[in-house]
Formats: sequence, structure tokens, C-alpha cells
Amino acid sequence: MRVKLVAGNWKMNGNLASNQALLQALIPALSPIAGVECVVCAPFPYLFQLQQALHGSSIAWGAQDLCQFDNGAYTGGVSAAMLADFGCRYVIVGHSERRSVFGETDKIVALKFAQALKAGLTPILCVGETLGERDSGVTEMTVARQLDAVIAHSGVKTLAQAVIAYEPVWAIGTGKTATPAQAQAVHAFIRNRLAATDAAVAGGVLILYGGSVKAASAAQLFAMPDIDGGLIGGASLIVGEFAAICRAAQPAA
Ligand code: PEP
Repeated sequence: MRVKLVAGNWKMNGNLASNQALLQALIPALSPIAGVECVVCAPFPYLFQLQQALHGSSIAWGAQDLCQFDNGAYTGGVSAAMLADFGCRYVIVGHSERRSVFGETDKIVALKFAQALKAGLTPILCVGETLGERDSGVTEMTVARQLDAVIAHSGVKTLAQAVIAYEPVWAIGTGKTATPAQAQAVHAFIRNRLAATDAAVAGGVLILYGGSVKAASAAQLFAMPDIDGGLIGGASLIVGEFAAICRAAQPAA
């Protein structure tokens, strides 16, 4: 059986003081939730703070992006090796805000995915359609294209060391959550598509849902057969909300 995973994406929020308060409250609130891996992904400057605060706790940590190249002359870049240096286990790759605001192409996302794996990190690969794409009936085609770019570069087997996050762009930060049935349909599409080439990878890979998940909507989403947890933005900054979402992922006893 697949474990559940809930990852918080703090986005570009926080400061040393607010992070410290959040982390000190999260440690007891999340420790430990049986059957659920809880993760927080912070901006680069705070990774050292996460390492100091979370080392020895039940909460894993990660970054929200990485450079597609090895260490070298890439001013402003942060490499996968640097993330590993700060104890990151996870890194978000191809978040829709990176794709739309920072111009990341499928090719760049594929390179970043490969860099994460090379450093022993678990990439959380984000895929998802815009509202226009959904309305035009090309949701599956969009998600397939985004997945295929990574598979073409790294091979389907590498998804065994990765996590996929289905995040419909129209649901991110908008307060509009996909219904459990809408989300499940795309999750099943992703798993079936992988199964066509590698059944073992398809059966094992965690597929998270992301897009305005709140404590009130989490349990119904996580109860769907192909939804293995969530990638949580805004609600991950609120201790009670994030803890309730993590608890909602707990498998029934
Ligand atoms: C996200 O940033 O990945 C996300 C899903 O954000 P939100 O939960 O705020 O929609």
C-alpha cells in the first residue's frame, strides 16, 4: 500500500521570526502522524533554519525550486547539491508559478527533475492544466505532455524515486478546489498512462493533489483511490489548518 504524503509549500512568505514560531508549533502538532509523511518546503534562505529546527523531528523539509545545472557559473542559481547540503529530502519541480511567472519550459523542468535525482533528492513534479486548457478539453493532453517531457529525459523508472503533484492551475491560490471526482479523474489518467509502460512504477508512485486544499476539503479528496496526499500552499502557513490536513491523510485504522 502507498503511504500518504502532505507537503506544505510556503511560497515566498515568512521571515526568521514567523518561521520559527510556525515550526515550533508544527513539531508537536505533527509528531508523528502514523502513515503520513509531513513535509515543509521553504524559500532558499530559510533552509538552514528548517534544518536546525526540524532535525530529529518527524517533519521532513525541502525547497521549492532548484537550478537545472551543476555548481558553476550560474549567478543566482541554487544547485541540487546545495539543497542536499542543508538536509533537504524533497524539492518541488515545475510548480505552475515557476512555469508561468518565470518561464520554465517542459525541457527546463525535465533538467531540474534529473538534477534533483542526481543529488538524491525526491522531486515533487508538478503538472496541471490552466482553466483555458480545461475548458478546451485538453487537460489530459497537457498533463501527458508535461509528464512525457520528464520521462523522455530521465526514463519512466525514475518516477519510482519521485512524487507527482497534480495541480490544476485554476485551483491554485484561488479558493476553487477541484471536486474529488475531478481530481480523481486526472490522477487515474496519470496512473493509467504510467501503467501502460511500467505497472510497478504506476502502482507505487505517490500522486498528490494541490489547489486550495483546506482542512474542510482534505478528507474527501484524500479518500479518493488515486489521491495519495496533498501539496498545500496557503493553508500550510496556518498551523491548525496544516495539521488538520495532515491528519486527514491518515489511513483509516
Ligand atoms: C501550491 O502552491 O502548490 C498550492 C496548491 O497553493 P494553494 O494551496 O494556496 O492553492
